[in-house]
Amino acid sequence: MSGNEMKYIQEAFDTNWIAPLGRNVDKFEEELCEYVGVEHGLALSSGTAAIHLALKYFGVGPGDYVFCSDLTFAGSCNPILYQYANPVFIDSEPESWNMSPIALEKAFEWAKKENKMPKAVIIVDLYGQSADYDSLLPICERYGVPVIEDAAEALGATYKGKKCGSFGHVGIFSFNGNKIITTSGGGMIVSNDEEAIKKMRFWATQSREPAKHYEHKEVGYNYRMSNICAGIGRGQLEVLDERILAKKEVRDRYDKGFESLPLSLMPIPAVSASNYWLTVIILNNNSSTTAADIIGNLESNNIESRPIWKPMSLQPIFNECISFTHCEKSFGNELFINGVCLPSGSELTLEVQESIINNIKGLF
Ligand SMILES: *Cc1c(COP(=O)(O)O)cnc(C)c1O
Repeated sequence: MSGNEMKYIQEAFDTNWIAPLGRNVDKFEEELCEYVGVEHGLALSSGTAAIHLALKYFGVGPGDYVFCSDLTFAGSCNPILYQYANPVFIDSEPESWNMSPIALEKAFEWAKKENKMPKAVIIVDLYGQSADYDSLLPICERYGVPVIEDAAEALGATYKGKKCGSFGHVGIFSFNGNKIITTSGGGMIVSNDEEAIKKMRFWATQSREPAKHYEHKEVGYNYRMSNICAGIGRGQLEVLDERILAKKEVRDRYDKGFESLPLSLMPIPAVSASNYWLTVIILNNNSSTTAADIIGNLESNNIESRPIWKPMSLQPIFNECISFTHCEKSFGNELFINGVCLPSGSELTLEVQESIINNIKGLF
């Protein structure tokens, strides 16, 4: 917490606007939109709820197809199943570790041939870094398919100077506890399409028709953010840029510390500025030390680290789904096997980080 969250929560208590909605929700939507550079925002109970509403908005229903980045968290694609549709997973490229334009093109060619055009494409900005939108968006445009930008991990990151979350027809953010800023739990959907946000706002508030009594013509959801959570978000947003700077320093120290080791950090293309949410490493193919060795060693020193996301196409729940790879073999699988997400908190002390670096160096 930054310290200012209590000020906004107190305001909610003082005015007795605890729920539903209230001034903090309106202001949080406004302030986040201004930060990202989009016109309209809708604060929700989670990032997953945001993706669900976006899929519904693009008309995704039973039997439909939706393309989605393969290397991601399950929250990106579970909502495809909520709508009884079929996910098709798209591999990562080595340059950015994000969706491969080559694999995306392959998927569209398949869809065209099989008459299985997707209703939407979910492009994820992985670990706080933008996908290559100048390559990906023209492909989706050529096939006339709308893009949902899953920027859950990438608030504050940019691509060619433009903020992540502003590239798709709609963008989504998460404020879950593990993200770069949190509302304890929450999400937001943003767009320049006012009608789209209006419709999703309606669905998110139980599809209550404008009438004095409770009138419903469509199925609705209880997906809004509480005024207390939004107060936390407002306080967090104030320190986002500071936090990005602190996280950049964490990454720079790892980068320097690992100079001579057979591993590399997640690459940052020249056109991108990461928010450095997580520092992630991948071991070279010739390294005799494995990702499991590193995770095991850190764990025995009471330091938590994690493997890279397990690609969705490898998950038992999605094992019957079709997927398209960048090369012959899946690049995402290689990242999963050889990668480690390192402790990257903005409050990581120099001493603790030094001991992490030394532990890892000692394994080589
Ligand atoms: C966290 C996350 C989500 C889901 O957000 P929640 O707020 O936890 O529902 C979706 N996509 C990605 C890439 C995420 O990291």
